[in-house]
Amino acid sequence: MMEIREAREALKLYFGYDNFRPMQEQIISCILKRQDVVVLMPTGGGKSVCYQVPAVVMPGLCVVISPLIALMKDQVEALLENGINAAFLNSSLSAEEQYKVENACLAGNLKLLYVSPEKLLSAGFLSFLKRVQVSLFAVDEAHCISAWGHDFRPEYTQLKILKQQFSQTPMVALTATADKLTQKDIQEQLYLRDPQIFISSFDRPNINLMVKPGRDRFNKITEFLDKHHKQPGIIYCLSRKGTEAIADKLKRSGFKATCYHAGMNAQQRAKAQEDFLKDDVQIVCATVAFGMGIDKSNVRWVIHYNLPKNIEGYYQEIGRAGRDGAKSDALLFYSYADVMSMRNMLMEGNEKQTELQLVKLDRMQQYAEATICRRRILLQYFGETMSKDCGNCDICRNPPTSFDGTLVVQKALSAIARTQEKVNMGLLIDVLRGSRNAQVMEGGYDRIKTYGAGRDIGTMDWQRYLHQMLNAGLVELAYDQNYTLKLTEQSRQVLFEGRKVQLVKFDEVKQPVEEVRKARPKKEVIQDALFERLRALRKRMADEHGVPPYVIFSDSTLQEMAAEKPTNRIAMLSISGVGSLKYERYGYDFVNEIINFITDEQEKGNKVKGATHLVTYEAFKNGNNPEQIAQQRKLNPVTIYSHLATLYEQGYEGVDLYRFVNKKEYLAICKSIESLGADAKLKDLYDALGEQYEYHKIRLSIAIFKREQLG
Ligand code: ADP
Ligand code: ZN
Repeated sequence: MMEIREAREALKLYFGYDNFRPMQEQIISCILKRQDVVVLMPTGGGKSVCYQVPAVVMPGLCVVISPLIALMKDQVEALLENGINAAFLNSSLSAEEQYKVENACLAGNLKLLYVSPEKLLSAGFLSFLKRVQVSLFAVDEAHCISAWGHDFRPEYTQLKILKQQFSQTPMVALTATADKLTQKDIQEQLYLRDPQIFISSFDRPNINLMVKPGRDRFNKITEFLDKHHKQPGIIYCLSRKGTEAIADKLKRSGFKATCYHAGMNAQQRAKAQEDFLKDDVQIVCATVAFGMGIDKSNVRWVIHYNLPKNIEGYYQEIGRAGRDGAKSDALLFYSYADVMSMRNMLMEGNEKQTELQLVKLDRMQQYAEATICRRRILLQYFGETMSKDCGNCDICRNPPTSFDGTLVVQKALSAIARTQEKVNMGLLIDVLRGSRNAQVMEGGYDRIKTYGAGRDIGTMDWQRYLHQMLNAGLVELAYDQNYTLKLTEQSRQVLFEGRKVQLVKFDEVKQPVEEVRKARPKKEVIQDALFERLRALRKRMADEHGVPPYVIFSDSTLQEMAAEKPTNRIAMLSISGVGSLKYERYGYDFVNEIINFITDEQEKGNKVKGATHLVTYEAFKNGNNPEQIAQQRKLNPVTIYSHLATLYEQGYEGVDLYRFVNKKEYLAICKSIESLGADAKLKDLYDALGEQYEYHKIRLSIAIFKREQLG
């Protein structure tokens, strides 16, 4: 269809992306056909593009209703950076500013207008909209309409008035909340006409999932941060005090960190948020309150200092990492003590809720103790099934092995019996390991038969084995009796009836540490160095323009630049995330920085891979022919021709390939390229051409062919 082609062009021109993500294209086609649509996609899935692209290609104004005022400014800034005219209206603007925006709407100068629901429903606003050509209504965070959900906003229930008054205008409702009830509420309450519903997978494959024992957390965090040099991230803590304490400790260890919680005043919070957005602080230690209203795409990692209450919350929080699609990490610290304090907290709450919340906590705990792919568990929780393991979680990377643990289990159970079921987990482990601490001595536990019988097993491993025993029902935890361990019917089977038990063993992962120590390939080191240079440039330009750095280019775009090293306009435009308008504003500076980088490296005697054709280019411009260059550089002439082909493909000036392959030859070779495709192997083309044309002529013809295809 004609219009979807326009949409794809707009995607490239304004956003710099070559392809739609799965579903975006279908969603946009529906909208362009003026159908109503409901979009359920995880955070970072690319919801905004679903209405921003139609907004650009449809005549008129797209009105976006969003409850997050803080977010509006960011989104409008990002759109303006992409060369799309947009504005917002909410209570934070002065009357004069509002008037200006309204005039721009009436004059037809805007493609997108963000409004808060309050503003939309305020007196006279709808009749104002009647005077504007509205192309599309986009209701963002549409789950706010549901009284069942956790973000209920009463004003949202009045949005039905839109369909009543603008029955011909299509509407798209978007949310990252997946449950059925919410979905039904959205459809019904917005009065959507027979909407198409798009539910995308909630998988976020770029987030690496990890769980570590909670012991010694702070050191583990600094170790983690050393491997995430300067990368922005969030540490979620349970308490306000916790956020402050950790932020302080991090600062004392030389990190740029700050805290964020509901106890701070609005100004302090805004400052923390702003500093984080602008990459002026690296780390925010926050209670769950943080993150709701931010749209920072280059959050590279999220750490949970404490176990979250439930999987929904956990998933939402880790989802704040890696919205740009680049590699990101989620690290959860887990200890039994956390589970217990969380349980105590929940028990104090309202009774009806408690039961449900305890069940949810159990599921969270099971996730933390998983012995199978963690992503499977997460997606299963949201009703999705994966056909294979993810390969991007700690379990997949380091699968646990099981062994006959009968003896281990017997030792533990016997110790529980001999201490009259009066000890909790910590004390039991002390007894098993033969500790001489006060509690052990006072109880006289050093005199029982199993005292010290488990010396050969470390404390951490004992904990893991006991957790497994708990999960398998081999022992019980008396929540109401100071968490002492009790025997069960199943314990007796193991102790007295010869029942065998398998336990799962986790080898401490030494791997990642070694990975870092191993000398990294030079290519990667150089790529990282360039990435750092580009990131620094991005920060300088962002400060100059008064926008957050990720608005200029996302991390994944910078990574692609660092890998591809584009050194001219055409090559730069082929990087995902570089649209023509962005190129005009920033592209030149980035090209320049890359060229400077390459020159610096070459002066240092480092061969920069991917830049070798530039050396050829220099020599060629200086009047050397390919044979001469090959001799000087001690390379095969075919290699030099292939450099010239690449240069030509990338649009370098002054590379005339017809000097080396004449028109007639090209036309003949072209026939085979057309039938085998431009990406065919040289050897196959060579054979198809009856071995009549030299390799370098075929390579050059491919380049000419590709350029012709681009038009
Ligand atoms: P959501 O609103 O669903 O949380 P966004 O719309 O903010 O997600 O998109 C997340 C990130 O993915 C942004 O950096 C965005 O530019 C990028 N993105 C969106 N669509 C595409 C696409 N088709 N190709 C590449 N990147 C995309
Ligand atoms: Zn996995």
